[in-house]
This record gives sequence, structure tokens and C-alpha cells, in this order.
Amino acid sequence: MELEQKFKQTLEKIKLNKKDKILVALSGGKDSTVTAYLLKKFGYNIEGFHINLSMGEYSKKCLEAVEKLCNNLGINLHIYNIKNEMGGSMCYIRTAIQTSHGKGLKNCAICGVIKKWIMNREARKLKVNKIATGHNLDDEAQTFLMNILKGSPQLSANSGAITRNVKDKKFITRIKPLFYIAENDIREYAKKKKLPVVFEHCPCAIDSYRIQIRQFTNSLSKKEKENIMKNFDKLSDKIQKLKSEDAELHYCEKCGEPSRKKICRMCEMIK
Ligand code: SF4
Ligand SMILES: [Zn+2]
Repeated sequence: MELEQKFKQTLEKIKLNKKDKILVALSGGKDSTVTAYLLKKFGYNIEGFHINLSMGEYSKKCLEAVEKLCNNLGINLHIYNIKNEMGGSMCYIRTAIQTSHGKGLKNCAICGVIKKWIMNREARKLKVNKIATGHNLDDEAQTFLMNILKGSPQLSANSGAITRNVKDKKFITRIKPLFYIAENDIREYAKKKKLPVVFEHCPCAIDSYRIQIRQFTNSLSKKEKENIMKNFDKLSDKIQKLKSEDAELHYCEKCGEPSRKKICRMCEMIK
């Protein structure tokens, strides 16, 4: 099957080792579910990690789907409940940040920073070597285009099917096994395999700039999206050189997490 072949080829390209302990970031959606399903199918050592964002019914459905998947696959599931750990639901935290920083910060941008911060910290505690996420070809083509349109291609410098050039004992390497696989193919695969997936969209993804870009990439063919990422691969060494020296990794002065600035984006937001 083409999707499984592409998945395997990506794992070969990033030289994923069967001895690696991999934490799969499971949202309950199709992409992370297929990522976990295939990593397990191909014999990798995985555990699941789910952040319960406490966003009402939607979060309940996501949690149920993730629990069912991990049960079916026979893997450990670690759950981080944002309400218990951080004192409020993602909606509450996000509104508080938007109130103090102005509406300029979009829902997904805030949520993305918080989830990445939690993932790295918790993955380190669990002593895993890799974090796997479900980002797919469409997500990556959108991100690359967004960074170009912002005039900041260097923001893509560390992107790829595996994080590039970030070697630090506190930073857990992130992998994206679906990097070259189109969203529609993943949706079809999840349905064909009858995987427990929440297909409805997150209720908070309403104001993202990404949605506008997605409308554009949805009008492109699979070949055209693949071409965007082929160009990304060709250009990635040059993009790397655009990074300024102050982009080196430090530790955040407040929380101690890896950061490219003195204060990390998470602490910057919640100050
Ligand atoms: S769609 Fe946006 S707000 Fe919803 S979980 Fe994903 S990043 Fe968070
Ligand atoms: Zn910090």
C-alpha cells in the first residue's frame, strides 16, 4: 500500500531505530492515530501521550478515542490534564493570554506553544528519545508557505521529518513520520482500518491564519503539495544559513526549558 510504503521510507530516511523509545503525541484525530498505528505495526517501541485540553464534549470524545486506540494497540498511555496541571482549560488559559497580550495572538498559535512546552517537559520526565507527531504533507506545506508569506523562511529552518540541528540534552528530538503523506490519504486509511478517530474539527480552530492558507492548499493537487515539500527539502540547507546566531538554543531564565531567547515563548505568554 502506497501510504505504508511512504511511511516506511520516511522512517528509513530519518534512520529511526527500533531501540528508540518513542512517545506519540495523540490528539484523538486521524493523523496522530495513524502515526501510532503504523509505528506499532512496524515494530517500534511506542507509548502514547495525550493532553486533555478540557474543551467540553470535544475533549471528552478525543480522550475516549485515544484510550480506545492505546487499548487496541496494547500500549501505555500517559494523560496530562491541563485543568489539573495548569489550573484551567485551554479555553480559559488562552482567553487570559489574549486579554493580557491583545487579540493579535491566535488560538492555535497559543495552544501550539503550550502543547509543545508540555510535550518536551513530560517526554523528558518519561525518559523517551523521540516525540512523534502526526503532522502531514498538507500541514507542512501550509507551514512552509506561511513562513514564506510572513517573509521569514528561516522559521522553517529546523523543520523536516526530524528536527534538524537541535542537539541538547533537554530537547527531545521530534519526528513527523507522515511528513510526505497527504491528508486525504490519511483520512481514507484511518477509515479503511476503522481506527478510533474523532473526525470533527477542534471548536477553537476558528480564527487561524492557517485556515486561509489551508483553503489555498486544498485547491492544489497532491503532486503540487509534494512539489512544495520537495522544494523545501532542496532549499533547507540554504534556509538553515538564514538563521541568525542568536537563534542558538539556551535555557529559559524562568522555566529552564530549551529556548532560542532568554525567556521562552511559553513564559513570555503567561507572564
Ligand atoms: S486546532 Fe488549534 S486550538 Fe484546537 S487543539 Fe489544535 S492547536 Fe489547539
Ligand atoms: Zn520558559
